[in-house]
Amino acid sequence: MDLKKEIAALTPELIELRRDFHRHPEIGKQEFRTAQIIEDYLNNLGLDVHRCLETGIIGVLKGGRPGKTLMLRSDIDALPVEEMTGLPFASENPGLMHACGHDGHMSVMLIVAKILTAHRDEIPGTIVFLFQPNEEDAGAEDMIQAGALDNPKPDVILGMHLWSYLPSGSIGIIPGPIMASSYYFKLTITGQGGHGGAPHACINPIDCGVHVWQAFQAYHTLENNSLHPTTITVGKFQGGQYNIVIPDTCVLEGSVRCLHNDDEQVRNRLAEMIDGVCKTYRCTYELEFKCGNTLLDNDPQIAEMIRETGVEVLGADKVISKDVGVMIGEDFAEFTRRVPGAFYFFGVADEAKGTHYEHHNNRFNIDEDVLPSVVEMQVSLAKKYLGF
Ligand SMILES: [Zn+2]
Ligand SMILES: [Zn+2]
Repeated sequence: MDLKKEIAALTPELIELRRDFHRHPEIGKQEFRTAQIIEDYLNNLGLDVHRCLETGIIGVLKGGRPGKTLMLRSDIDALPVEEMTGLPFASENPGLMHACGHDGHMSVMLIVAKILTAHRDEIPGTIVFLFQPNEEDAGAEDMIQAGALDNPKPDVILGMHLWSYLPSGSIGIIPGPIMASSYYFKLTITGQGGHGGAPHACINPIDCGVHVWQAFQAYHTLENNSLHPTTITVGKFQGGQYNIVIPDTCVLEGSVRCLHNDDEQVRNRLAEMIDGVCKTYRCTYELEFKCGNTLLDNDPQIAEMIRETGVEVLGADKVISKDVGVMIGEDFAEFTRRVPGAFYFFGVADEAKGTHYEHHNNRFNIDEDVLPSVVEMQVSLAKKYLGF
């Protein structure tokens, strides 16, 4: 297989696919046009294609020889962001944008499927292409419940994210925790409202809320194991409406993220601290935690395979294996809880090209020039794992 040559021949199609997906972003669970394009494309290749949920697509490529089953995953959803890039192929759907790079993921995966299908006879084993809806709202679990991992059951699953936190053309890969678990909390504190001039006759829940916020800071300095990355963010703090009225309630909402396995312990300790503060202030409270994503914990052997492949395909200087982990969540974790797997980042940041903006920013863009290398990396991983 002269992979570089094959990819070069398909690069115009790769870019065209990416720009078409970019022009037509669709929000999670409503990726109807996107799913149709993927389904038709895989059907045209002659794969065994089926839907999983309304907009999830699974394409199965059976190789000419027996072997293991490898699953490659791409997410397909966009975000509720108004695009401000000014690109000639900017979003045509008002208020929606591919601001995370999933347009790139899909186009890469379709071209990977095309290349591997052309080599079907040489492939020992099966390659499953999984196109997952609704990643931004943790849709992986729904897809798994709908049978995404059952037919056929993969031996290994690989995931990749184009990444504007890394320089263009490099990859980031580490064994163990790479993306954080995230739990969202809502704390409603109830006191007793009344006159601003008689605080002693009232119970001001805002005073209590501020103290809870301070307890979160104390958690970091007093309680947290510094070797276990943990972030506690309050993103919403609401209480009261008038300067002379003490309100009945105040609300704090935020997230607790852990890049380690002791996340339950963290939540339990925070709940104890909240309980103690609320008792001190004679307030009652309701605390809810909702799981956003679980910890994405890379299988060490598979992470090593990705690192080695990165060195072979891109060169050792392009493989970053330090300070790669992030406190952002990724629902790919739900797959790796069931199947051995690993996730890596492919850098797309190039300031000169304006591809250095944060994910989910309205100016986010990917460096298209790296997409052929991403294809090469993905095909090479399939070759390495299955052995052809
Ligand atoms: Zn995202
Ligand atoms: Zn994303």
